[in-house]
Amino acid sequence: MNEIDAVARRAADAAPAFAQVTDVRRAALLDAVADALDGAADELVAVAGEETALPEGRLRGELARTTAQLRKFGDVVREGTYLEATIDHADPSDVPPRPELRRMLRPIGPVAVFAASNFPFAFSVAGGDTASALAVGCPVIVKTHPGHPRTSSLTAGLVTSALADAPAGVFQTVAGFEQGLALVDAESIEAVAFTGSMRAGRALLERCTARPRPIPFYGELGSLNPVVVTPDADAARGAELAAGLAGSFQLGDGQFCTKPGLVFVPEASVLEAALPAHVAAGEPRMLTPAIAEGYETGRQRASAIPGVEVLAGGDAPTAPTVLAADIATLLAHRELLDEVFGPVTVLVRYRDAASLDAALGVLEGSLTMTLHAEPGDDVAGLAEWAASRAGRVLFGGWPTGVAVSWAQHHGGPWPATNTVFTSVGATAVRRFLRPVAYQDAPASVLPPALRDDNPLGIPRRVDGVLRLP
Ligand code: NAP
Repeated sequence: MNEIDAVARRAADAAPAFAQVTDVRRAALLDAVADALDGAADELVAVAGEETALPEGRLRGELARTTAQLRKFGDVVREGTYLEATIDHADPSDVPPRPELRRMLRPIGPVAVFAASNFPFAFSVAGGDTASALAVGCPVIVKTHPGHPRTSSLTAGLVTSALADAPAGVFQTVAGFEQGLALVDAESIEAVAFTGSMRAGRALLERCTARPRPIPFYGELGSLNPVVVTPDADAARGAELAAGLAGSFQLGDGQFCTKPGLVFVPEASVLEAALPAHVAAGEPRMLTPAIAEGYETGRQRASAIPGVEVLAGGDAPTAPTVLAADIATLLAHRELLDEVFGPVTVLVRYRDAASLDAALGVLEGSLTMTLHAEPGDDVAGLAEWAASRAGRVLFGGWPTGVAVSWAQHHGGPWPATNTVFTSVGATAVRRFLRPVAYQDAPASVLPPALRDDNPLGIPRRVDGVLRLP
């Protein structure tokens, strides 16, 4: 057995015992992890700052988000609706006649998590994928990101200590490209969660499918996050929108999956005139050399498309940049729709509603879609279109900044993700659960969530009626 198979085996050995740990106890374990990370905040932020060059304020905020997220997943499992506990009593008069059926969600088993480069806390070792899998009783093995190795091992040490009372093997890490591949191939892994590039995501998706026993792959991949500004919104507050857009697309030096990368504006817009003044001079240090190179290449490629104008952006390879094009250019050069990860956004000028519709029609799925309109605008059609192509539709505001809450959805049609699930918010746990229906089961074998006396005191649907405890 190779090293990675042994790691996966340990996780599989821990899985049955971890699945038996009560939700209340697992929530307490997540609280302990959060407390441990909060207690080491100064050291974590200092190390992450050295490795990623992200500013201290951003890192402190991200760490606070990460520990709040761990505690929120504890709240989710304490509350109990995530189990979808459902009881249908036997009914011979139903058509067809119905046996007794009791259905709930159960932990899927060991989960491999590929940490992201751009959030060294919130989407890394103790990030949302890890928290949501542990919350519902799945052991986790994190493939750490090479962009922040010391932050990863410091975090892993804190998580391991905080989970000292959990079954051995519920949390482990591995490092290295080949190790990541071996992890996906390991027989006892049951699901893979990933945040990163489309190229790597596609390779890992195909690898998950090609296994002798295929397993689910939950990829959060590329996203353009289109924005539409109506003529009335531009006239009423174009300058304000320019400042907001500039803040959003340059946040974190554009290294966000929710960066607004494509902005539809009316021809001769106030927004376009005002935007260049808000573009920072200078040369940001990107998260990794590969990301810097990818940004430089992508920015140059997009700038060189015939018909594309550079409205702002210095000569430095990683300079923040604004590009502009008309609808005809976009339709003739679909490569303008390729995501460029970094501080660049593309303004697309539209003449009228028909030309805007033509351009929107060629867009693929995104994590978000934002509409800036005035109260008198009829945006019903745009809103419906946006909901068909994006996982989160914003009416005003900017897509960077993803709240962690019960109603959040951070996903979307391909290429935003390859599934219908979210990686942020309460329902992120759904990725790591598998439904089971028990038919005519004796009471002695039923899990507590499905027993008649409802010992967990959780909301359940009984004979079609939602019953609160
Ligand atoms: P990446 O290249 O997709 O790598 C992410 C992880 O996948 C790393 O652990 C990497 O391992 C591994 N990996 C890469 N290629 C692989 C392959 N062919 N097979 C198996 N594993 C593979 O992401 P990144 O390092 O962050 O690179 C930056 C790019 O990712 C950006 O340009 C951006 O497009 C995208 N990105 C997207 C998001 C998002 O939220 N959707 C977030 C961050 C980055 P090694 O590093 O060990 O090689």
